[in-house]
Amino acid sequence: MRTSIKQLVALSAATLSCVAAQAAPAKRPRLVVEIVVDQFRSDYLDRFDDLFLPAGRGQSTGGFRFLRERGADFSAARYPHFPLFTAPGHAVVSTGGYPYKTGIVGNDWYDKSARSPLYSVSDSGAKVVSDDASSKAKPMSPKNLRSSTLGDELKMATGGRSKVVTLSLKDRTAVLLGGRLSDASVWFDDSTGRWVSSDFYCKTGQLPAWVHDINERKIPNSNFGQNWVGSLPSAVLNRGWRPTGAPPFDHPIHGLGSQFPHPVNGGQTAPSSAYYKAWVLTPWANQFVLDSAQQAVQSEGLGKDEVPDLLAINLATNDYVGHAFGPDSPEMVDITVQTDKQLSKLFRFLDRTVPGGLANVTIALTGDHGVVPLVEDLAAAGFRAKRIEESEITTAAQNALVERYGAGKWILDYVEPSLYLDTDALKAAKIDPEEAQKVAARAVAALDGIYTAFTATQIEDGRLPNNDIGMRIAKGYYPKVSGDVMVITEAYHFIEGSPFSNNTTHGTVYSYDTHVPILLNGFGIRPGVYREEVSPADIAPSLSQILGITYPSACDGKPLAAALR
Ligand SMILES: [Zn+2]
Repeated sequence: MRTSIKQLVALSAATLSCVAAQAAPAKRPRLVVEIVVDQFRSDYLDRFDDLFLPAGRGQSTGGFRFLRERGADFSAARYPHFPLFTAPGHAVVSTGGYPYKTGIVGNDWYDKSARSPLYSVSDSGAKVVSDDASSKAKPMSPKNLRSSTLGDELKMATGGRSKVVTLSLKDRTAVLLGGRLSDASVWFDDSTGRWVSSDFYCKTGQLPAWVHDINERKIPNSNFGQNWVGSLPSAVLNRGWRPTGAPPFDHPIHGLGSQFPHPVNGGQTAPSSAYYKAWVLTPWANQFVLDSAQQAVQSEGLGKDEVPDLLAINLATNDYVGHAFGPDSPEMVDITVQTDKQLSKLFRFLDRTVPGGLANVTIALTGDHGVVPLVEDLAAAGFRAKRIEESEITTAAQNALVERYGAGKWILDYVEPSLYLDTDALKAAKIDPEEAQKVAARAVAALDGIYTAFTATQIEDGRLPNNDIGMRIAKGYYPKVSGDVMVITEAYHFIEGSPFSNNTTHGTVYSYDTHVPILLNGFGIRPGVYREEVSPADIAPSLSQILGITYPSACDGKPLAAALR
């Protein structure tokens, strides 16, 4: 049989195209996984490195060391804005933009038109979507976020074919990581122990079936009455810097007590809201979030086809533990080491589940802010360190305004980090608001432990010092949202409501709050240790480059080009 030239050409063309199809490298990852470990300081990676699983490969893939040693490790990442809270930090990660553009200037702020404090993601026009009628969760949406997110841009770029799923114990992080076009954004309802969402995401008024199935299993209840015991020998858990030698505080933490072993029952005889508030501080809660994320991958088919999907997860437990016990506590050692094991489990699952394994997945991990060491420990060692009661701030400002302008309630509220003056009352009394801001700012700045206070007028006119703090203020102020006087503490000082509800916190302009890891791994990433100063705002444009999509609308960050293939 003779083969014609035409047939030969057709045959070889077919063979060639077949070879090309096999050999052509994928242009995009199948799945992008963003992990924000809440309150995760950069130094944790080094301090606990010897306790982490080896980097490994395939079904022996580790956690943090896998990300660092087989990926790009940016060891000098710092947030350049102020204040360092969860909502602004997550908006930076998801949009690549700072509060001056995203409008997310705090976890909360004060709404002068409604004359009441406003939670960053609350939306009275939305409805809670829960499968438990007893839910006391409040309605949430991204309506106050003035930017698209990476997930939004991915949905737009693929005509909606990409899937975007976000999960967190915290509503604000699930919402701010998700944005407006997310397919499923769910958060934990500590009134019921179940995942909930909002009708902003669940247009049918029902949770996705896989979420409902998880809820029906009542997984959080299975730990009721157990103790959280440290998973490592006492000498290892107690390796932190503790000059006071003992827990220096005595604040009630949901019945957990101040030392291992921590009874997890919320002081109750059966699972209830008090129990769930205690449970979220345990490693079981992080495992629940990550197991639910695995279910999302399976049920939503994330990474299944060549259209890239996005899974974004916040691990809030690390933050709760830091607030309760501090960065040098045995609990911080334990939760970080357990997080490492839990991440390893997720990565091994992805390696088995996504076609082509982890090579077809891009992983980005960071923190949303750090945390102040316990001021009791610092003070015991001779550092200038203390808590400042919020009432000191409002009283100083109010007294100064009364002294200058006479009797009146001139302050509406202090919502960290800003004082809000009663502009209507000032106007009615024909008082120049700019001058009133100055009077309040001077009084607050004079307080012990306060570094300085900036007025809104000063910020809007660009009259800020040409230094690190001036830059942070400029990046953290949104004219229609921010307050009238922004308050900056000295290092190792923080302002807290009365009575103090946390043993330590975050939010300041200093290194312990601003320095977080950025770890990139997998598809499109060039492994290595990178020591140039970068920002978590660079994550969104880097992932946008890998995905070949437009940057989120408020993006300020720059691609981490050295680490991109
Ligand atoms: Zn946080």
